[in-house]
Amino acid sequence: MDLDKNLEKYADLLVSVGLNLKSGDNLAIRMTEDCLPLVRHIAKKAYQRGVKDIRLEFGDDSITLDRFLYGSDDAIGYYPDYVVDYMEKLFQDHHHVLSLVAPDPDLLKPVDPARIARWQKVAGMAAKRIQHYTMENEVKWCVAGVACPAWAKAAFPQLPAEEALAKLWENIFMATRVDQEDPVKAWWEHDAALKRRQDFLNNARFEKLHYHGPGTNLEVYLVPNHIWVGGSGFSKDGDVFMANIPTEEIFCMPHADKVNGTLRARMPLSVRGQIVDKFHFTFKDGQVVDFGAEVGQQILADLLEMDEGAKRLGEAALVAHNSPISNTGILFKNTLFDENASCHFALGAAYSENLEGSTERSNEENRKLGMNDSMIHVDFMVGGPDVTVTGIKSDGSDIVLLKDGEWQV
Ligand code: ZN
Ligand code: ZN
Repeated sequence: MDLDKNLEKYADLLVSVGLNLKSGDNLAIRMTEDCLPLVRHIAKKAYQRGVKDIRLEFGDDSITLDRFLYGSDDAIGYYPDYVVDYMEKLFQDHHHVLSLVAPDPDLLKPVDPARIARWQKVAGMAAKRIQHYTMENEVKWCVAGVACPAWAKAAFPQLPAEEALAKLWENIFMATRVDQEDPVKAWWEHDAALKRRQDFLNNARFEKLHYHGPGTNLEVYLVPNHIWVGGSGFSKDGDVFMANIPTEEIFCMPHADKVNGTLRARMPLSVRGQIVDKFHFTFKDGQVVDFGAEVGQQILADLLEMDEGAKRLGEAALVAHNSPISNTGILFKNTLFDENASCHFALGAAYSENLEGSTERSNEENRKLGMNDSMIHVDFMVGGPDVTVTGIKSDGSDIVLLKDGEWQV
């Protein structure tokens, strides 16, 4: 594999499909040292496309960890407002955001979870007033993965470091279609296929979904006036862009109070560097009333106790089993990749884009309509070749959506 050649193709994909950068746009890149070779390709291509300015926001895992381990309580509670002002200025000056993630899935293992929770709350509250720029697509934004030694070690613990890193890149290139002759063309074709199904699902107006497979017999009502979302989105200026690369899912909003039955998860779930595996849930009126895990029972118990919404679903996503990501056959230990390998649900907060008019209503009003709220949003995979998903309309008629891991519509 010619890494540099692939990095150049990846860079091209991110600037042309991910952010669809145009003349006059600006670019802000969130990155770590591992991203630099890719970012240099990206910068070149972005300027060639007429970008006026590129700003780098540099982060470092080791320094992040030090804040949690050695920082005073003041350090955990400190998020200067002028940093948020600066970011807001960038958004107002047409800076579109590329977030490159080179995660260490085990990074925060040694940290007191209460410190993480406090920091997340402080940072979240500080940045709340600028959240709408990305959450409501006022700017174009894209999240993509970059291989790094720590991630490679977590994904391929049995391989020597160098081999693991090469293997992770190889799998990222497969999952993002960079290994294909013309990744940009492949992505627009893929997007068209996602949109076709998104439109089909939106036109069908299903009242509920039924999941059936080994250990799974689950009925999931969707909120009324739900919106299925998949693939590309539109910015406020009308530019099409891809918020996640890769993305294979078409997702919708389950009704927080109307989920009933049993569900067996198919693949391990990684929560802050810890693994929960071979787990199952029983839902009644939307709430998890029984659960068990052969591995990580206590981690799962803690997760469900985070708040009221943590025991309820906030996302139902359909993914065909036959996709470049699931065909890699590996657990990436990163949500961006793993959630796109199989049908999944998320425990916790729902996305406002899945409910018509939600941004004009209060949280309480949305909750009454079935939109779940929580401080967590944790995806876990349920689907696989042996799970059948059926859409059922209010008149009782049904359509099989996924069977044997493949789309039936
Ligand atoms: Zn999802
Ligand atoms: Zn999710």
